Amino acid sequence: MSQKLKKLGVITIQDLIFYYPRVWLDFGQTTPISQLRLNDQAIICAKVLEIANIRTFKKKMLITRAKLADSSGEITATWFSQPYLTKNILVGSQWLFMGKVAFDWQKREKILANPIYEENAQILPIYPETKGVTSKYLRRIIRPLLEKITVNDYLPDNLLEQEKLLSLPEALKNIHFPKNQKLLAMAKLRLAFDELLLIALRMQILRENMQKQSALNIKINKEILLKFTRSLKFNLTNAQRKAAWEIINDLSKKTPMNRLLEGDVGSGKTVVALLAALNAIKSGYQVAWMAPTSILAEQHFQTASKLLKHFDIKITLLTAKNHKKSLAHIKNSQLIIGTHALIQKGVRFSNLALVIIDEQHRFGVKQRMALVHQLPQTNKPINTNNIGGNLSNNSRSLVFTPHFLSMTATPIPRTLALSLYADLDISILDEMPKDRKKIITRLVDSINRQKAYEFIGQQIKTGRQVFVICPLIEDKSSQLTVNSNQLFNMEKKSVEKEFERLSQEIFPKYKVAKLYGKMKEEEKAKIMANFMAKKIDILVSTSVVEVGVDVPNATVMVIEDAERFGLAQLHQFRGRVGRGTHQSFCLLFTNVLSEETNRRLKALVECNDGFKLAQKDLEIRGPGELVGIEQSGQLDLKMAKLSDIILIEKARNWAKKIVGDGVDKYPKLKIKLKEFEKLSHLE
Ligand code: ADP
Ligand code: MG
Repeated sequence: MSQKLKKLGVITIQDLIFYYPRVWLDFGQTTPISQLRLNDQAIICAKVLEIANIRTFKKKMLITRAKLADSSGEITATWFSQPYLTKNILVGSQWLFMGKVAFDWQKREKILANPIYEENAQILPIYPETKGVTSKYLRRIIRPLLEKITVNDYLPDNLLEQEKLLSLPEALKNIHFPKNQKLLAMAKLRLAFDELLLIALRMQILRENMQKQSALNIKINKEILLKFTRSLKFNLTNAQRKAAWEIINDLSKKTPMNRLLEGDVGSGKTVVALLAALNAIKSGYQVAWMAPTSILAEQHFQTASKLLKHFDIKITLLTAKNHKKSLAHIKNSQLIIGTHALIQKGVRFSNLALVIIDEQHRFGVKQRMALVHQLPQTNKPINTNNIGGNLSNNSRSLVFTPHFLSMTATPIPRTLALSLYADLDISILDEMPKDRKKIITRLVDSINRQKAYEFIGQQIKTGRQVFVICPLIEDKSSQLTVNSNQLFNMEKKSVEKEFERLSQEIFPKYKVAKLYGKMKEEEKAKIMANFMAKKIDILVSTSVVEVGVDVPNATVMVIEDAERFGLAQLHQFRGRVGRGTHQSFCLLFTNVLSEETNRRLKALVECNDGFKLAQKDLEIRGPGELVGIEQSGQLDLKMAKLSDIILIEKARNWAKKIVGDGVDKYPKLKIKLKEFEKLSHLE
C-alpha cells in the first residue's frame, strides 16, 4: 500500500475496503437551471455552449469559464487554475455538474463555482482525502477490489434475516458505489449495526467474565463510615449518600463491582469515592485511584491526605515523574493515587481490592477495557498469614479481581449511558451541594473587555482568584494561512501572550502565573499548589485545568476565544468555579459570532445543568456530534450514531443472545471479534 494511503490509516487491502466514503453525491437528483438558488449545493444536467480559459485582470489567476444550458435556462460555471478542463469538457457535450451556486459580483450574475462534473447519473462516493489521495483515485482503486476479493460475512444468517440486513459483501459494494439511495441507506444500516454489535459483544463478554470472577468482599464498616462523614465540613447530599451506599453495598459482594458514578461537575464525586476507599482500606485492603492528568492526581493526593488525616492511612502518589521513587512505597501503602503510571510495568500491588478511575471518559472505552485486563490481580487477602506455609499451596490460592469504580462528569442521558457503558452499573449524582450559588455566565464583547477587567480586579481585591483559559500555548497566528474566514482567527489568544499582557499591562499589581500541559510535572504541581495556597491571583492556562481541578476560592473563569470550545468542554471549564460558597462568574470572551457559536454560547449563559446542555448541544449540532464522544476517539464509530438508541438496543440484545449461546458457536464472528479486539488494544 502506498505511503500516501498510510497517512489515511489504510495499510491493508482490508483497510481499503473498510475505508468508507464521507458523503455521497447523487448525480441522479438534478435541479433545472432556472430553479437554482444562491448558496445551494446543486447538480444540473446541462449542455456546454461555450468554454474558454481567461486570465484575470491582474494576470495572476487563470479562470475557465463555461456557458451551460438546459431546457430551463443558462448559467456560467467557473474553475480556477485548471486550464486542462477545456480539453475534457467540449462544446456541445452534455454533463452532470455539481457545485455551489455563488454570486459573481463583477458580472452581477449567479454562477456555478468550481463544479465537479460527471458523465453518468450515479451516486458518487466522496472519501476523507489527504494530499495526493483524491476521491477519484480512491474510487479507481476500490472499485476493482470489490469485484476481485471475497469478503466473508461473519454475522449469522438468522440475524441477517430477522433484522433484514444486507449481507456484508452487498453492504460494502453499496457503501462505495451505491446503486440507489435505498441500497445506500441499507448499506449504512448494516455497517452501523456491525460497529455497535462488536462493541456490545465486547462489553457483554467483559461483563460475563467479570461476573465469573471472584472479588474480595469487603465488610461494611458503619462505624468508620460515620466517623468520616462526621469529620467533613459539610453534610453529604442525598444523592451522595445513595451513590455511596450503592457502591459500598457492591463492594460487600464476592463478584467484582463494575460501576460508573456519573455526576455533573462539582456534584461531589470525590468524597463518595473516598468513602468507598476508606471502607476497603479499613478492611485491610489496598485501593488504587487513577486520574487522567498529573495535576489532578496531585490534587487528589492533597485532598485525600487532608480528609483522611485522622484515619492513619499511608497514601502514595505515583506519577511518571516520581515513578521510581514511589514504586518501593506501593507495597506498604493503602491508598495509591496516580496517573497512567499506575498501570505501567513494575507496579505491584500486594492486595488490591478497589480501583477508582476518575474522569474515566478521558481514558476512553478502549483504555478502560485495557485497564481491566492490565491491572494486576491480587492473590491473597493481606491478613492471611503465609509464613511457613508450604509453597505447593500457592497453586491453589485464589485469584481476586479488584472492584472497579469509574467516575465521570460527561453528562450523557441515562439511556445512552446504559448502552454506551453496557458493561457497567450506574449511580448518578443528580443533586448539587446545597450551599452552591448559580454561576453567573456572561458573553463579553470586545467593547466591554475593559469593564470586565475592572470587575475581575474587584474580585481579586476581595480575596478571590481567577482562571483565564486560552486555546493555544504559543502565538501561532502568523502561521495561519489567511483567507476571509480566518481573518478573525488571527487574533488568537495564547497563554504566553495573554500571560504577558495580563501580568504587565492589565494587572501589574497582582500575581499572575501560567500553566500548560507541556510544562514539567514538578513545575505544574508547584503552580497548582501555589494557586491552591492563594499565592497566585490569576492563573492563565490551557485546557489542562479542564477536568477535575478543585480550587473553591476561585470565583472567576475567563474563557478567551470561547467559540473555539465545544459546549461540553465550556461547561467543564465553568465547573472549575462555583465550587465553594462564594458567588462565581464565568466570562466568555469571543470575537467570532456566527449564528451557531452565538446559539452555543447563549445556551451556556442560560443553562447551568450539564445534562440539559448535552441535550441542547444535541439540538444545535445534531446527533452526529453528541457531547463530543464520537470524535474524541473513545469509540471508533464510522457509520453508527450514538443517538440511534433503537439500533444500539438491537445490537445489545443480539450481543446478549450470542454471548449467552457461547461465542464459540459463531466461529466467523469470533475471528472478527478477535481482530477487533487486537485493533483496539493497539491504539
Ligand atoms: P466533582 O464531582 O466535580 O469531582 P468534587 O468532588 O471535586 O466534585 O467536589 C467539589 C467541591 O465540593 C469540593 O470542594 C468538595 O469538597 C465540595 N463538596 C463535596 N460534597 C459536598 C457537599 N455535600 N456539600 C458541600 N460541599 C461539598
Ligand atoms: Mg472530580
